[in-house]
Amino acid sequence: MTTTYDVVVVGAGHAGVAVVSALAKAGFAGSVAVLGDEPVLPYERPPLSKEYLTDGGAAPLLRTEAFWSTDSVQLELGAQVTTVDPAAKLVHVADGRTFGYRKLVWATGADARALRVPGATADNLHSIRRLSDVDRLRRHLTARGRAVIIGGGYIGLETAAVLTGLGHQVTVVEAVDRVLARVTGPVVSRFYQQLHERHGVRIVLGETVAGIATRAGRAHGVHLGSGELLPADVVIVGVGAVPAVEVLQDAGAAGDGGLLVDDLCRTTLPDVHAIGDCALQVNRFSTSAAPVRLESVSNANHQAKVTAAHLVGAPPPVPAVPWFWSNQYDVKLQTAGLFAGHDEVVTRGEPDSGRFSVLYLARGRLLAADCVNVPADFAGARRVIGERERLDTELAADPGTPLKTAVLAHA
Ligand code: FAD
Repeated sequence: MTTTYDVVVVGAGHAGVAVVSALAKAGFAGSVAVLGDEPVLPYERPPLSKEYLTDGGAAPLLRTEAFWSTDSVQLELGAQVTTVDPAAKLVHVADGRTFGYRKLVWATGADARALRVPGATADNLHSIRRLSDVDRLRRHLTARGRAVIIGGGYIGLETAAVLTGLGHQVTVVEAVDRVLARVTGPVVSRFYQQLHERHGVRIVLGETVAGIATRAGRAHGVHLGSGELLPADVVIVGVGAVPAVEVLQDAGAAGDGGLLVDDLCRTTLPDVHAIGDCALQVNRFSTSAAPVRLESVSNANHQAKVTAAHLVGAPPPVPAVPWFWSNQYDVKLQTAGLFAGHDEVVTRGEPDSGRFSVLYLARGRLLAADCVNVPADFAGARRVIGERERLDTELAADPGTPLKTAVLAHA
């Protein structure tokens, strides 16, 4: 028998859970089903490369078990949606069940990008996307072992910090000439490279991975393009994420490298929204008119609120300045805005002090800020970016001047 719900949410991650909460908050009284392919209660992903990797323990649940035991939401775990029939408004699950929907919210996130080199199927080669990935990695960690991390992005570097703290000897291999190149500017990249090197991490830049050296199905090293073999007891791959969009695209949804949505998070299929890591949307805080896919909790939460508002017929919330954080050792990075397209960079404070911010501007307007251990700058930057204000860059460069004081009077 097929049950039809007012709203079916596919994907029980940050975005999927946030839309359930936002609907409840908006007073939605209809029926809701959440279909998630993982066998565990919905959990937070950021701790996977931070606290949970360090300590293990209880899963960092997004909501308590009690939250899901009410009658208002039907949570189906281990339910992998394999096909969508937009004409009949049905979703089909791998185990043969079918769910009908009036509105569908697609919140399937992304999968870890696989490394395609010889030996990449080794048993002790890991990615970090799911709770089960980290549980498996923790089982493979031997005391004071050698870890090679492929990829110098946030997940690779956070993992490097945790494993170093656990006593492992860590090498990070990055294909381009600086770490974090996709997400930040050279000043912040240099700061993080030096931070890791001070903690004993070897950072290898501008190097390709030619293959994984294996013995009896287990990795014992990483072959670099230069010919060097990095010995390894464990290999971790952090080379980005691929949006989980195939099923909805097979059903006819448009989008290249994500599911194209409008400003109300509607896909090109009738009554189907897409939110979170899988959604591709024009962002009003981007310098480009091209749609962007943002991988952050704040984006998942905001798009969930936009969708819930639309589903209950309420006005959408005001556009939110994108933001992100990363914790490595005792350093907290908070990023506000989107830095691509900047034409000026201002550094506030001295990176060597471990407390500084880097501001990215375009034609005098603040586009983005990376704030390292300066939460006040982060708060100020979010406000200035949100209000699209122009800055006096000389004043803004002075870390003693609050950012809001550096705002130029309106012409
Ligand atoms: P997800 O949280 O990935 O949830 C999608 C869910 O859908 C998953 O459970 C998936 O298994 C399920 N699914 C996929 N396909 C199907 C299907 N066909 N049927 C049913 N279910 C399906 N962001 C920050 O802002 N700060 C951080 O510090 C930070 N750290 C991170 C650390 C790690 C290790 C990772 C992996 C991510 C981190 N992120 C961080 C990013 C953040 O976690 C994501 O942006 C956020 O999880 C996106 O939410 P989502 O709901 O779109 O996707």
